[in-house]
Amino acid sequence: MRATVFGTGYVGLVTGTCLAEVGHQVTCVDVDEAKVAGLRNGIVPIFEPGLAPMVLANHGAGRLDFTTDAAAAIKGAEVIFIAVGTPPDEDGSADLQYVLAVAATVGRHLSDPVVVVNKSTVPVGTADKVRAAISAELAARGADVRFEVVSNPEFLKEGAAVNDCMRPDRIVLGARSATAVETMKRLYAPFTRSHERFVVMDERSAELTKYAANAMLATKISFMNEMANIAERVGADIEQVRQGIGSDPRIGYHFIYPGAGYGGSCFPKDVQALERTARRHGYQAGLLQAVEAVNDRQKHKLAELALRHFGGDIAGKTFAVWGLAFKPNTDDMREAASRSLLADLWQAGAKVRAYDPEAMAETRRLFGGRADLVLCEDPSDTLEGADALVLVTEWKAFWSPDFPALARTLRERVVFDGRNVWDPVQVEAAGLAYYGIGRGRSL
Ligand code: NAD
Repeated sequence: MRATVFGTGYVGLVTGTCLAEVGHQVTCVDVDEAKVAGLRNGIVPIFEPGLAPMVLANHGAGRLDFTTDAAAAIKGAEVIFIAVGTPPDEDGSADLQYVLAVAATVGRHLSDPVVVVNKSTVPVGTADKVRAAISAELAARGADVRFEVVSNPEFLKEGAAVNDCMRPDRIVLGARSATAVETMKRLYAPFTRSHERFVVMDERSAELTKYAANAMLATKISFMNEMANIAERVGADIEQVRQGIGSDPRIGYHFIYPGAGYGGSCFPKDVQALERTARRHGYQAGLLQAVEAVNDRQKHKLAELALRHFGGDIAGKTFAVWGLAFKPNTDDMREAASRSLLADLWQAGAKVRAYDPEAMAETRRLFGGRADLVLCEDPSDTLEGADALVLVTEWKAFWSPDFPALARTLRERVVFDGRNVWDPVQVEAAGLAYYGIGRGRSL
């Protein structure tokens, strides 16, 4: 089938590439000319495991193309995906300007019947707005072309996006028309061979499903961080508590890791946007407000522990920081906990030597040129002249450092483990002070 994807970010590029991988003819459109030119020359602008070779192979095979020419990409497409960003606007609601700009573009150029699929995360009611924007443009030029709008929220995880796209847990389709659902089922058939994965519903429910999923996951994290903060105060170890509750199948082990707060381009903005939607409909979503508040506080936890260790004064101290991406296996630093930590350390007059396996280019783009930041080549480079070490992102490469060597190198012999990946007993046996999240025994 012929599919066009608007937006070549984490969602659009992965979706387009996976559709090409299963044999569809895909055109990806972006307004970012440099990005499109790079992709045409085999430069994949984001890090996502497995993505680059797949882009190159499908581009080479002629199934995947990139363009800024929206009109040409719309012509002849059977399915058009909208996968552009929906960042928060000034009051935290989802900003729909990019989604509606694509809808208007589609309306301006549409000449053949098509299914327009909204993959961006959008507030309930957006399908109606997309439909209206397309219709308005068609009416303006006196055209009458049949089109359907489908809400198909995306559930891929950055860091595992290709795998999630090739083997989705479920494919949610929110639609009014049975023929649009049939078209989507044909398009996605290669991804659902082993068992039925379609969950078909009305548009509004599909739109809310995405927010509900992210809000639930964010709630689990904030809940565990709340428990961690209590554990720390009462002298309990949250890691033992985690094992104790995860063993209950009603709770499970997934997504109950305490840490330095959730980040990324989705949880913070989606929890906020859902809370604002509720408020606009006259409902105070107290739980969502608490999830957000706990997370905002948690992002300052590591700096708080550092200040506690150093008696409230870290001015002039140098911190080695391991991990800058908002989670492992990505280069994405949007809303990353590392950004709050760096801001806090700098605010208190400390210096930073930082390393991340994939996010160095992004760090340079965000903070390059600061005198109080040294970008390092590898983890050991960060330790040179450092007083303390802070682990922020739990890349596997950071899990088993040589603790006795760290004790010899770090001037103040202290480590802050923002993801509870190290064993406090082992760390302390090496002669280092250990601080984790919610590990009361270390106080
Ligand atoms: P992104 O910021 O990485 O990419 C968006 C892309 O859209 C950019 O390349 C931008 O240049 C392009 N764009 C903007 N306006 C355009 C237009 N008019 N025509 C063509 N291209 C245009 O965004 P993302 O992370 O891929 O997220 C896209 C949407 O998917 C968001 O609504 C997000 O909430 C949702 N989502 C993201 C993830 C994720 O893990 N990143 C997961 C699920 C859902």
